[in-house]
Amino acid sequence: MDACREKMLELMLKQDIFVYFYIDYEANQWYLESNPALPEFVMSSQDNPIEDILKSGRVYEDDKERFRLFSSMLRDGTGINDKDELIKTQLRIKYRNDFAVWYEINIYPKKVDYSKRMVITGTIHRMTEREIQARDIINFHTNDRSPKMFSSLAQRRVKEEKDKKFAYIQFDVAGFKFINDKYGEEVGNELLAHFSDVLDLYCSEEQMFTRLSADVFMIVTPYQEISDIYSFIRGLEAALSGFKNIKYSFVFGVCLVGDRNTPSRTLGDSAAIARISVKGNALENIGFFDQDIKSGLENKLNIEKKMKAALKNGEFVMYLQPKYSISNTRIIGAEALVRWIDPEKGIVPPDSFIPVFEKNGFVVKIDEYIWECACKQIRKWMDHGLPPIPISVNVSRVHLNNAEFISCLNKLIDKYDIPKELLELEITETTENINSNEMIVRAKESGFRLLMDDFGSGYSSLNTLRNTPFDVLKIDRSFFSESMETDRGQKIISHTIAMSKDIGLDMIAEGVETKEQADFLYDCGCNAAQGFLYSRPIPVEMFEKLISN
Ligand code: C2E
Ligand code: CA
Ligand code: CA
Repeated sequence: MDACREKMLELMLKQDIFVYFYIDYEANQWYLESNPALPEFVMSSQDNPIEDILKSGRVYEDDKERFRLFSSMLRDGTGINDKDELIKTQLRIKYRNDFAVWYEINIYPKKVDYSKRMVITGTIHRMTEREIQARDIINFHTNDRSPKMFSSLAQRRVKEEKDKKFAYIQFDVAGFKFINDKYGEEVGNELLAHFSDVLDLYCSEEQMFTRLSADVFMIVTPYQEISDIYSFIRGLEAALSGFKNIKYSFVFGVCLVGDRNTPSRTLGDSAAIARISVKGNALENIGFFDQDIKSGLENKLNIEKKMKAALKNGEFVMYLQPKYSISNTRIIGAEALVRWIDPEKGIVPPDSFIPVFEKNGFVVKIDEYIWECACKQIRKWMDHGLPPIPISVNVSRVHLNNAEFISCLNKLIDKYDIPKELLELEITETTENINSNEMIVRAKESGFRLLMDDFGSGYSSLNTLRNTPFDVLKIDRSFFSESMETDRGQKIISHTIAMSKDIGLDMIAEGVETKEQADFLYDCGCNAAQGFLYSRPIPVEMFEKLISN
């Protein structure tokens, strides 16, 4: 027996051999044998039996091209060299209900002079689950793209190629659903197929890619500098664009591999988190994973899990921060600010949950709850014969999309039977919301006193003030404290105050922390202030003590 057949036998004994074949090119004859452990039977044929498999139509679509190449190589004997190596390919054969079974073909391609004939030998066998997991998918034309395979191969490369740095890059199409809706699913599918084709061309042999789900793709690539990743992504983006004049854009998430033992899945998840974190960002479409994003996301999920029960259990509480007249340090009002009294974490400040609620819409419920607390409080003071103190409540921008918040406020005013001027509304106006101005006008027409919150924080400008229905400007603390430092900053504040007086607006400064700031404001003509100099936001009972003194 020659060395070649010996090698094949050795292989067959090790594996669960399905069939063993050899090809006699001179006689143009194929021989197929069953496992030699079974009773001997030999089939011979002039046709390429592997091509028959292909013709049967049962080869999995994704594997066809690679299998065709393999089969023609066997037919012609081309590509077969004298190297002492094993060539493998894998393919899936479809059974009933599209259930697929993996087969592997191994050939020992060395041309040998077997009885003065040129012969190659090979085996075909059904793969075990272990082999499917572990097989080397970049061997030969087998750059398999199933996510599971991809993941285990990527993991292996990251572990073994220690001289290289690796990055996981995940991307998807922003608003892919919209493309499907607008152009039809067929076009959507074509587009995705186009992406696969482009990736095939664009990715080098060193880079691997897979399609994870409908429009989410993953690439694992070695890199030297972070700038390599940026230029790779920008180039890829350009290559992927411009299909059938359809307008679409991408969102990328990157995770740089640090610890090479991190499971591939975790690295992939991190790239996904980075991708999700840049969604909706108008300026940047590449996000890098870092631990902060992850804990931010975990925090968000944790908040969303607990928020409804927290509202039911009364964990949201209204605090009041008094507003003062600078000249006589008397309390002239209060701002209602929400606090979350978490049984485990204690007092949670609103900056850590209000932005989450604004995204998921729950802020509407919280605001309505706080509005009701404020109305109840005013009613209570009236019942106790205390001098009426106006409370201003925050109205999230989310409300400004429809007029419902105005009727909600009116209902509360009726329910607690309180004068409208005692419930003031703090609104942060932004230019991004086209409906907001109309809603603000409506609130004004409905008789509410309106405060423009966060004035000077970048959204609002003096010019727009002339046409807005606001009654009071609330100078933002950042604007205020930073500007105070310089001479020019002080001029801006004094002119802002002068101008708002000129157009008939009232003023209040928030975030007043020092006596100097208060004096300066007073000198400029602003007599109302809110800030730590006077009092922090405090529980209602403490506020009541303050006013009764
Ligand atoms: P805001 O409406 O600008 O509220 C003023 C914030 O400034 C409050 O923070 C207050 O504690 C803080 N502050 C007051 N005086 C000073 C000071 O002298 N120095 C400094 N450094 N800070 C001062 P807080 O209570 O943490 O609220 C943060 C933001 O959360 C609020 O900013 C508001 O946008 C939002 N928020 C709070 N409660 C509600 C609510 O019930 N509904 C809605 N939609 N948003 C709320
Ligand atoms: Ca406010
Ligand atoms: Ca503010």
